[in-house]
Amino acid sequence: MTTNEVSIPPERVRAAEAVAAVLAPGRRVALTTHVNADGDGVGSEVALWHLLTARGLRPTIANPTPIPDRFHFLLPAGADHSERAAREVEAADVVLVLDISDVSRLGDLARTITQSHEVACIDHHVSGGSLPRGPRLVAPEAAATAELVFDFASALQWPLCPEAARALYVGILTDTGGFRFANTTPRVLRVAGALLERGVDPESIYASVYASAPEGRVRLTAEVLGTLVVEPEHGLAWVTVPPDALQRHRATADDLDGIVEYPRSIAGVRLALLFRQLANGKVKVSFRSVGDVDVAELAHRFGGGGHRKAAGASLEGTLASAQEHVLAAAREYLNGR
Ligand code: 5GP
Ligand code: MN
Repeated sequence: MTTNEVSIPPERVRAAEAVAAVLAPGRRVALTTHVNADGDGVGSEVALWHLLTARGLRPTIANPTPIPDRFHFLLPAGADHSERAAREVEAADVVLVLDISDVSRLGDLARTITQSHEVACIDHHVSGGSLPRGPRLVAPEAAATAELVFDFASALQWPLCPEAARALYVGILTDTGGFRFANTTPRVLRVAGALLERGVDPESIYASVYASAPEGRVRLTAEVLGTLVVEPEHGLAWVTVPPDALQRHRATADDLDGIVEYPRSIAGVRLALLFRQLANGKVKVSFRSVGDVDVAELAHRFGGGGHRKAAGASLEGTLASAQEHVLAAAREYLNGR
């Protein structure tokens, strides 16, 4: 199937139809994504909110954690009810999970969702997934979930309004690191091109997403970069978020997005890490790689997952013990190749 010169693989068309089969007009749909929603999670939700509203469904966004300020410009008035997400999920006929297939990444919503209704999913993670049964449009080779939402709309010939096109563009832009990462395929550039043809303004989107930083984000970045450690003999580099730094800079987890690209950008580094203490006592580790280092595999050893070149995990224990274990595994892994 071809739309605006972007062909949709037949298995994605079939998967899109299976997901659409549970989306009958009038149904209440809770759209949700992983904790600390990113541009792809929010962009995919916002696009689906428009698509479903236009079809006569009653969608609502119900995320386990608040949507970061930098994506508020995408939100239609009254679309986001994440502050009462559990109640929205309980009241929904269908839960549509975006940009994750693992229930554990849904934070406190995991409990509400496993007991419920019909659970559909659109996602591009490598994970086998642990959601309750339901229709799925899952393709790890897609650059972003937003690419799959584009395919979903195209396959069903559901028109994308300009606001939905803009939201999908944000998902693709952010998940490809501004069209720089290895997932920047010819196909996703064609999808981005098709979105621009619908009137998306890339300059204003860049300004909203990347060039409207609160001062605290820049000061936080400076402080985190001050913790940099490099081990050139292993091709390893890491940074650590000081435990109270977010609070001091009035920052949120979203303000840390992209900092791990600095250790990754050092010549000779093959594996970059960012460590951070979470409010729930766990330690979050972000893994980024260069070349053939597979961080999804490494993160998986610690109960996490993600993609080959970008993955994450949350570990029990202190920051010091998490660092000890992860760094030991990282050195061993790097020495073996
Ligand atoms: P980040 O390091 O930016 O939080 O995440 C990088 C990638 O790894 C994203 O695709 C994200 O969804 C995934 N990821 C991050 N943390 C976890 C985790 O704890 N479990 C799993 N399965 N994936 C994660
Ligand atoms: Mn994504």
